[in-house]
Amino acid sequence: MAEGKIISFNEGALEVPDFPIIPFIEGDGIGPDIWRATRVVVDSSVNILWGEKRQIIWTEILAGEKAYNHTGNWLPPETLESLRTYRVGIKGPLTTPVGGGIRSLNVTLRQKLDLYACVRPIKHFPGVPSPIREPRKVNMVVFRENTEDVYAGMELKQGTEQAMALIAYLRNNYGWEIPADAGIGIKPISRARSRRLVKAALEHAIKQKRKSVTLVHKGNIQKFTEGAFRRWGYEIAEELYPDITISYDQCNGMPPEGKILIKDAIADIFFQQALTRPDEFDVIATTNLNGDYISDALAAQVGGVGMAPGANINYENGYALFEATHGTAPKYAGLDKVNPSSLILSACLMLEHIGWEEAARLIEEALAEAFLNKTVTYDLARLMPGATEVSCSKFAEIVCENMKKASQLNLF
Ligand code: NAP
Repeated sequence: MAEGKIISFNEGALEVPDFPIIPFIEGDGIGPDIWRATRVVVDSSVNILWGEKRQIIWTEILAGEKAYNHTGNWLPPETLESLRTYRVGIKGPLTTPVGGGIRSLNVTLRQKLDLYACVRPIKHFPGVPSPIREPRKVNMVVFRENTEDVYAGMELKQGTEQAMALIAYLRNNYGWEIPADAGIGIKPISRARSRRLVKAALEHAIKQKRKSVTLVHKGNIQKFTEGAFRRWGYEIAEELYPDITISYDQCNGMPPEGKILIKDAIADIFFQQALTRPDEFDVIATTNLNGDYISDALAAQVGGVGMAPGANINYENGYALFEATHGTAPKYAGLDKVNPSSLILSACLMLEHIGWEEAARLIEEALAEAFLNKTVTYDLARLMPGATEVSCSKFAEIVCENMKKASQLNLF
């Protein structure tokens, strides 16, 4: 086996060797099934394109139930250390331990590695069942702030000494009357973190030649958090890219050729418009909790959580963790049944992140072919008249066959 090398980061860009070491977390429940399928597809794409010249050297790291069973720790320190050392990793879904200790392994990983942008592309593949009339119009990328908001886990349990003390402090110092039996959560939204998130969304829009960036917020009600996020979003666009971006007011929503429209939408109306007029939205930048709801709601438009990929990225140091967006679906664990597309498409985002875009494109085309031919897993088959239901591993095999056919026909 070839000797693996570490991916490094220099002057704002990743330096990727031909044999990069990439750690993976298999995941719990259906994790091992979808990871096996994903690995076969990724290895095959790299092999088809570059033969012996390139290969990912996978190394397993532990988190979740498997880690707990082996080490007594849900998230061993070595796992975080490996992700720091190797910079880029991929993971299956993890069970969130119920009761004390770590609240969510996913949230912990994002926070500990400061993976501040949760990136979720939402694009429809022709043939995939959708609840909306014109799913081909859905093509958005959500940039969700990943490290703050009420999601940051700053909560005090109702009735505890700390909750009572904070309630008393707020009454005495601000005159805020909070019921004594309330639980309390804190919602920090900071200027620096909002700006770096919107900057990432803007840079993505510029690089990918997107039409617009929409700041989604609840600033009409939460003025100093969500409203400030909106203001800081416009501020950074104006500050960094005054020649490339243009606000809605400056052009009445009709940007001249070559300019990216910067607009904003209040979260509730955004949900409605993203359903009724999805083609008016392109790149979305939003706060953590809004982004959580938005990414799953939009995923439903293109085939559900089995189809939606996810990436957690720190663009300032290149750290990135790619993941399926669904959970561990325990009732299907080990049945070789579920749809591996979410993790496969997350691996495509990873391949793009390391600059191996050709492999991502090859896989996406092969997936598209499988959907068009209606050879799909149970979740899509039940909604597609005339479909052939295949297992998770068989689906991966079909994707690999499609890639080989495409390369033999020189479609790549
Ligand atoms: P879930 O595991 O996502 O499963 C809910 C349902 O979604 C499944 O029963 C299945 O629906 C469908 N589904 C999920 N993955 C699918 C796939 N790959 N292919 C086809 N259908 C799929 O949600 P949950 O049951 O609420 O959560 C279970 C555990 O996962 C919890 O411990 C939760 O904390 C954890 N979780 C982890 C992550 C993560 O690691 N990122 C994210 C969310 C939840 P049908 O039964 O209708 O077919």
